[in-house]
Amino acid sequence: MSRNHDYDLLVVGLGPVGDALTALASLRGLSVLAIDKSPTPFPLPRAAVFDHEIMRIFQEIGVAGRILPLCRVPDRYQFRTASGDLLLDFPVKPLGAFGWAETYALHQPAVEAVLRERLAELGATIELGTTFEELEQDGDGVTATLLRDGERRSVRARYLVGCDGSWSPVREALGIKLDDYRFDEPWLVLDTIFDEPGDLPIVCQQICDPQRPVTYMAMSGKRFRWEFMLKPGEVPETMLADATIRDLVAPWNCADRMQVERKAIYRFHGLVAEKWRDGRVLLAGDAAHQMPPFAGQGMCSGIRDAANLAWKLAAVVLGGARESILDTYQVEREPHVRAIIETAIAMGKVVCMLDPDAAAQRDRDMLARKAAGAQDVSVAYPDLHGGGLISQTPQAGALLPQPQAPNGQRFDTLLNGAPALLGRHLPAETELDVQLLDLESVPLAPFRSAFDRWLDEINADAVLIRPDRHVFATGRADEILNLWSAAIGQPIAA
Ligand SMILES: Cc1cc2nc3c(=O)[nH]c(=O)nc-3n(C[C@H](O)[C@H](O)[C@H](O)COP(=O)(O)OP(=O)(O)OC[C@H]3O[C@@H](n4cnc5c(N)ncnc54)[C@H](O)[C@@H]3O)c2cc1C
Repeated sequence: MSRNHDYDLLVVGLGPVGDALTALASLRGLSVLAIDKSPTPFPLPRAAVFDHEIMRIFQEIGVAGRILPLCRVPDRYQFRTASGDLLLDFPVKPLGAFGWAETYALHQPAVEAVLRERLAELGATIELGTTFEELEQDGDGVTATLLRDGERRSVRARYLVGCDGSWSPVREALGIKLDDYRFDEPWLVLDTIFDEPGDLPIVCQQICDPQRPVTYMAMSGKRFRWEFMLKPGEVPETMLADATIRDLVAPWNCADRMQVERKAIYRFHGLVAEKWRDGRVLLAGDAAHQMPPFAGQGMCSGIRDAANLAWKLAAVVLGGARESILDTYQVEREPHVRAIIETAIAMGKVVCMLDPDAAAQRDRDMLARKAAGAQDVSVAYPDLHGGGLISQTPQAGALLPQPQAPNGQRFDTLLNGAPALLGRHLPAETELDVQLLDLESVPLAPFRSAFDRWLDEINADAVLIRPDRHVFATGRADEILNLWSAAIGQPIAA
């Protein structure tokens, strides 16, 4: 590291997204200072579920084994009418394509505590109780002013990422505006603990009752969450009163056994920052985008940002890649996030219908669809496109599946963090920083049939997997390496 920089990377904000970015960047060899203004992690849950892509990222960080016991795999995600008829019913596969269950219910503070513990193990420098105030940047780095215990100091880093949440002081410092989807609904969120859950169902449900739209979720362990939409004219003070809450949960016959852990009013909305990179400063997580929670994807999207960004920063700082690859971050991530926001808003519009006639019509239409045999399958999010780090070859931009060996070993355990070329007829060596994974070799044997099938389907010999597990290109090994060399800006051997 040059004497001009105290750190390669300054991460502002240690919510789940800052945690994930700090861990992944540290794993890839960057020196990281991560700060949070709060001396302790946010103690109360917000995210209720995350998906298999995120567990795969936790696997890479080295914490999946610690997080798994803190989670519960819900049976289903359902949308029901006020009278209980099923409008949508998404089963949760216990083993999805990426090597983990499709959905996990979590207790966010417990998961964040595991991530924090891991950061210390990975050697990142963590400063809690330290507030980011302002920044200046030039072509060589970023100087940030930090405040701790009343003392101000400057820290110089090559790059700064604002993972500082929805109000993001980093985004404010850059003057970046938010594009607003104009979906804006106030909801009461009620988190509870039950020593005796009794017959409370172990599901995630949207109850599409025009009298009062409700979300109900069995979270992990003894925790259960309800979310109640506020109707026009209802005010927080009345809605948060104990008597109102007892009335709201009355249909579940559980008020006497329930300990209220937290009650709060949130506004659910869809917002996207217009710019995710300004020179050497980038935004990730809620600082870059916010969405209503109906798809359970806000935190997931932020952790995907971290996975997308960490390897690119490392490639630029340590791997000699051209700096312009950082522009692919927003190019790839924004359409993905927007697709999810639009799905979440569409789900929200189904749930948040207060007009009884419109709700009755919705119920008739959706019940007719179900009666005609429509099956609900998990929502598939788009592949990545554009930006030069996704080629035009088949499957490029998709996440590589993660098969499991008969002994339970997951494929990703063979990856060493570099881009990987997996397949048949590989060169014996390459000058590029690329791991070669020959399907004929002994360690690959348990996964050979799964990947042979996958490659045969697209008529390819090999696939180049980026460090974030997305497919860069498929085809012939030599052609793929040439494409990668050109894309990343690394020279290829003559
Ligand atoms: C009711 C509800 C339900 C949700 N359900 C889900 C769900 O089921 N699944 C899902 O994936 N997502 C869900 N989400 C969204 C999810 O909680 C957020 O997207 C996620 O917590 C955002 O993480 P983050 O790290 O980007 O920001 P945050 O968690 O907000 O962290 C930002 C951090 O930055 C710090 N910070 C701020 N300013 C400064 C400063 N000046 N200096 C230093 N530090 C600073 C803060 O102290 C904080 O620790 C839900 C959200 C809500 C509200």
